[in-house]
Amino acid sequence: MEKELVFATHNPHKLEEVRQMLPPGFRLLSLSDIGCMETIPETAETLEGNARLKAAHVQQHYGYDCIADDTGLEVEALNGAPGVYSARYAGPEGNAKANCEKLLTALADTDHRSARFRTIIALTEGDTFHYFEGVAQGEILRAPQGEGGFGYDPIFRPTGHSRSFAELTRDEKNRISHRGKAFRALQAFMEDAGAHKPG
Ligand code: IMP
Repeated sequence: MEKELVFATHNPHKLEEVRQMLPPGFRLLSLSDIGCMETIPETAETLEGNARLKAAHVQQHYGYDCIADDTGLEVEALNGAPGVYSARYAGPEGNAKANCEKLLTALADTDHRSARFRTIIALTEGDTFHYFEGVAQGEILRAPQGEGGFGYDPIFRPTGHSRSFAELTRDEKNRISHRGKAFRALQAFMEDAGAHKPG
C-alpha cells in the first residue's frame, strides 16, 4: 500500500518536482490536498527551527508524516544575514527586487562578498525528526544579472561559474543548488529506508 506523505507547500511546481524525486510506495500530498489553508507560523530563529515548526504543525493537526523546507541566503560580511529572514529582508511584503537592492546597498563598500544559500528539510517519521541540508556557495555580484529564477538569483553567482543563478537554466541550477542538494539527500534517505523496509 502507498504511504501518504505531505509536503508543506501550496506551490504545485514545488510539489511536482519533489513528487518526481520520491521512490515508489509514497503518495505526496500538498497542504491544499489535506485542507490545511491556515498560515503555518514560521517564527523560529533558525532554518532548522522553521522547517521543524512546519512539519510538526502538519503532523500534530492533520496526522500525516510531513516534509517541510526552509531556505536562507547567508552573507559572510553580514554575519549570516539575511539568513532565516531572507524572504522579508526589505519589508513584510516580501518584494524580491527590494530585497536584492537592500543587500547590494549593505555590501556597497566591501569586496568581501562570499555568501551561501542553505536549505534545510525536516521530515517527520512518527515522533522522530530527520534533517537534510543543501548548501550552494558563491558570491554576491555588484549588480543584478539575468532574468530567470526568483528571489536573490540575479545577484548570486555560484562558485566555479561565470553566470548568476538567474542566467542558468532550471536544470543547471537544480544540479548545483542548495534546494537540489537537500532534496537529493532526502531522496537517498528515503530510497535507503525503502530498501530496508521489512517485507
Ligand atoms: P523559502 O524558504 O524557500 O520560502 O525561501 C525563503 C526566501 O529565500 C525566498 O523568499 C527567497 O527570497 C530566498 N530564496 C530561497 N531559495 C532561493 C533561490 O533558489 N534563489 C534565490 N532566492 C531564494
